[in-house]
Amino acid sequence: MRLVRFRHDVRIRTGVLEGDAIRVLSGTFFENPVPTGGEVGASEVRLLAPVIPSKVVAVGRNYVAHAQELGNEVPEEPLIFLKPSTAVIGPGDPVPLPPQSRRVDHEAELAVVIGRVCRRVTEEEAPAFVLGYTCGNDVTARDLQEKDDQWTRAKGFDGFCPLGPWVETELDPSDLEVACRVNGEARQAGRTSAMAFPPAALVSYVSHVMTLLPGDVILTGTPAGIGPLSPGDRVEVEVEGIGVLANPVVNGG
Ligand code: MG
Repeated sequence: MRLVRFRHDVRIRTGVLEGDAIRVLSGTFFENPVPTGGEVGASEVRLLAPVIPSKVVAVGRNYVAHAQELGNEVPEEPLIFLKPSTAVIGPGDPVPLPPQSRRVDHEAELAVVIGRVCRRVTEEEAPAFVLGYTCGNDVTARDLQEKDDQWTRAKGFDGFCPLGPWVETELDPSDLEVACRVNGEARQAGRTSAMAFPPAALVSYVSHVMTLLPGDVILTGTPAGIGPLSPGDRVEVEVEGIGVLANPVVNGG
């Protein structure tokens, strides 16, 4: 199932995307959503970020090849950090390049969307707490990441967390291609099977630190090939079995 959040006329609604049609749901994805019986054409609506997370927990250096390209080792335990919910934008929304940075990179990532309150679950229990998966872009001001001792600023600007275009609920995340293109040109490619810590292990690990709430997102790390974005670029993240998340890049001055 492809779960979408969308704006139709002045209303923000949720639904299930089937082909070119959206079956409208009442309520959220998390509290027994019920079809209203209504249907709208996908071309008549604007898709939004599929969830509004209370927090986005991101994982650094989870692919060996990417850790190596920045001169790092894969850590012994997942290296986690937070992106603020205010960084989240949806498909088609512009990524603003902040004036404080001279180098902003794309990071294509598989995003895990939590479906139920999740605290201290085992890796085996974790999949039952996952609503599904979407595409994410862990946009990063690389120069500020290197300059600051921690990554709040570098990872936290408004618009630095594109998510979407929908939540795919029936997906085995263990071996999917994760790719990034800029202006149609291939930049990043890797497979989730190359993660040091797979999604279920990450959900379990994070849930032993902080309670995960419905709609929270875990960004699972990026494969090799990160690179800079410029105003006027169109950046695309594609995860096999989900779809393509595309965003224009603009000057945020
Ligand atoms: Mg990342």
